[in-house]
Amino acid sequence: MALDGTRLKDALEAIAAEMATVEERGKPADYIPELARVSAGHFALCVATEDGRLFSCGDADTAFSIQSVSKVFTLTLALGLAGDALWKRVGREPSGSAFNSIVQLEYEHGRPRNPFINAGAIAVTDIILGNHQPREALGEILRFLRALSGDDTISIDEAVALSEKQTGYRNFALANYMRAYGIITHPVDLVLGVYFHHCAIAMTAQQLAQAGSFLAFGGRDPLSGFRVVSPDRARRINALMLTCGHYDGSGEFAYRVGLPAKSGVGGGILCIVPGVASIAAWSPGLNDVGNSRLGTLALERLAKTMDWNIFGIRS
Ligand code: GLN
Repeated sequence: MALDGTRLKDALEAIAAEMATVEERGKPADYIPELARVSAGHFALCVATEDGRLFSCGDADTAFSIQSVSKVFTLTLALGLAGDALWKRVGREPSGSAFNSIVQLEYEHGRPRNPFINAGAIAVTDIILGNHQPREALGEILRFLRALSGDDTISIDEAVALSEKQTGYRNFALANYMRAYGIITHPVDLVLGVYFHHCAIAMTAQQLAQAGSFLAFGGRDPLSGFRVVSPDRARRINALMLTCGHYDGSGEFAYRVGLPAKSGVGGGILCIVPGVASIAAWSPGLNDVGNSRLGTLALERLAKTMDWNIFGIRS
């Protein structure tokens, strides 16, 4: 589908202007000081298209903590390592529960509902750890993101990683519980060391939009032509983003925006328009289920204005 650049530029400009006037911006995550001190005033939107163009507005070159958006990339890597055997350890159903919920894990004998809630992402991280040292596993995740976004400067915010570790009692509980069931096979502190660090990767909206491009174009990076995953796998990762990408707000996000997406408590959202574009939105203020309030609103506006949805509907 040819992309109308002028229409897109106008849409981004109008959205940025509207977002600047919104007073109810939500509250940045405050479970660690590094996230609590980020201003709710930030807003960014970046659209990466098939021909490599980036259309941006707002603070699109300011780095933020990608947090759970990293779970899309770790799932991609782990599927490459374990293939469909991954699904023996992790389910594919929406959880309907908070991202860090423990109760469901007990009912379901230690097998997390999906790879995008914390428990599922920790199990996925265990797969990436494989026979590696944590440092090597982390290096692999970082190299993957740098290659996808074509930017070697992407790095981990060590202060965020340390705070996550110091306060991550629930994640330790989830991991220990899964270890008891053999869903996790490595020592809990090693798995969580990698998990906390990949959540602490800092990226700009421009880098993130670029990194997600392979998901918009059937698993192939449109710029380099490099096949990252098979078309089948790209379709399935998108399907999981649509159904599970926003925790217990996944239904609401699909209803409002109509596109697959993954959020993080840093206020980032990676959103895919299949065959058209990869989008990153960022605004740190969160709604009551931990998803970016303005990020969601901006994506809702953009999807409507550009007639972007997975249902082929034009207004
Ligand atoms: N690092 C966060 C945690 O594990 C990620 C959660 C999120 O972004 N929803 O609690």
